[in-house]
Amino acid sequence: MLQSGHIFIVSAASGTGKTTLVSRLSACQPDIRISISHTTRMPRDGEQNGIHYHFVSRDEFEQMIAANAFIEHANVYGNYYGTSLKAIESLSKQGYNVILEIDVQGAEQIRRLLPEATSIFILPPSMAELNERLRNRGTDSEDVIAYRLEKSREEIEQSLLFDYVIVNEEITQAENDLLAIIRSVGLRAKAQSQTIIQILSEK
Ligand code: 5GP
Repeated sequence: MLQSGHIFIVSAASGTGKTTLVSRLSACQPDIRISISHTTRMPRDGEQNGIHYHFVSRDEFEQMIAANAFIEHANVYGNYYGTSLKAIESLSKQGYNVILEIDVQGAEQIRRLLPEATSIFILPPSMAELNERLRNRGTDSEDVIAYRLEKSREEIEQSLLFDYVIVNEEITQAENDLLAIIRSVGLRAKAQSQTIIQILSEK
């Protein structure tokens, strides 16, 4: 029998490079999948419905909340974001390691509901570097950058509540660190109970 995959929560302050990090890892590790969230924000250039997010209206999102379709949801920068039960259940049952790339509010909800999930916070190397990365994106005004930096500080303060912290100074190193955490969770004796049972059942 296939063992259920493990759930990993990955959070970070915006501008830390979390999306790039997680996408790079899942692209080269076939057992790792990223859960596709629902959101009410507008798609950015190049984003596709059903691949990057399920883009829905506020009405649709609120109907899903009422129907208890979400395992967690939060309001981030004025838009709703949520992880549906459906998004993670089938992946986990198929044995995939599932990454929930979510904000700190969602992380707190998942930690409460699924205490066996592993939580990882990605830190920028410094506040100065984060400031520079947010500016280099060239998408936000001064006001928005100042607001995001303030929010980032609040999010970083919560990193101590996570199981692991990775500093994203150099992307390949950060990717190796993230993979090391995922592999070590999979190697825990408890996670290998099916393998142990199978070996012991041999005559
Ligand atoms: P973005 O709009 O830049 O894609 O995401 C904004 C923030 O929302 C990021 O911190 C991202 O991790 C978070 N986010 C994305 N999906 C979810 C989700 O399903 N639940 C929660 N709580 N946060 C999410």
